[in-house]
Amino acid sequence: MREAPFPWDVEHLIYIPPCGRNMAEGEVIVVFCEVCGTETPHKVIHAGFGPDPNAGFSGKVQCRKCTTIHHTEVPSEKNVSIPLVLSDGDTSSSQRLVLGYLEEISLGEELIFEGHNILITAILKDDRKINRAKAGDISILHAKVFDTLVVKISISSGSRTRADSLRVPPDEEFEVGDLLDLNRGKVVVSSILSDIKVRREGLPVPARYIKRIYAKPVRERSY
Ligand SMILES: [Zn+2]
Repeated sequence: MREAPFPWDVEHLIYIPPCGRNMAEGEVIVVFCEVCGTETPHKVIHAGFGPDPNAGFSGKVQCRKCTTIHHTEVPSEKNVSIPLVLSDGDTSSSQRLVLGYLEEISLGEELIFEGHNILITAILKDDRKINRAKAGDISILHAKVFDTLVVKISISSGSRTRADSLRVPPDEEFEVGDLLDLNRGKVVVSSILSDIKVRREGLPVPARYIKRIYAKPVRERSY
């Protein structure tokens, strides 16, 4: 193979090996060298793949600057198209979500998909439900459209309690003392039950963390 003269133009030698192809020995790859403390051109001494043929390059390389031989791994840039069951209210549809092979997805994570904020509700690897996985390992993802969500509200008035709700974006914040304009009148937030275990006054809680808002009706006087 033809070799570029030294010093190499690192800018133009960046080389991410295409997925599924074994790097030939003698080829050039630009990776980080711990001795040089920077990315430098390396010659491939021994190329190999790990157990996962799609995971990218893994092998022994030699720095062209300082001649140190070390092991390196370059993740694949390959994308995978994962079956996605996306529910939106009462309906659900089959979609495909394209992610980088090594990208990790967690249960409860929010992603942007076709202009919608979606929330991952299940990750299946083969038939098992798991909490976190590399995109390349996922067989099916379940998610729901999460542009808005329903915040439950309990309104207590004397000994009576009634239920209400508000549909809001997940980022919308609520705090104790807020006035909410509901269909059946105005209420004031008296406490917030949330995933984040803080209910201090003056501390706003985004709707995505709220389990329930407790409120009291506001009596509107006419003068
Ligand atoms: Zn080096």
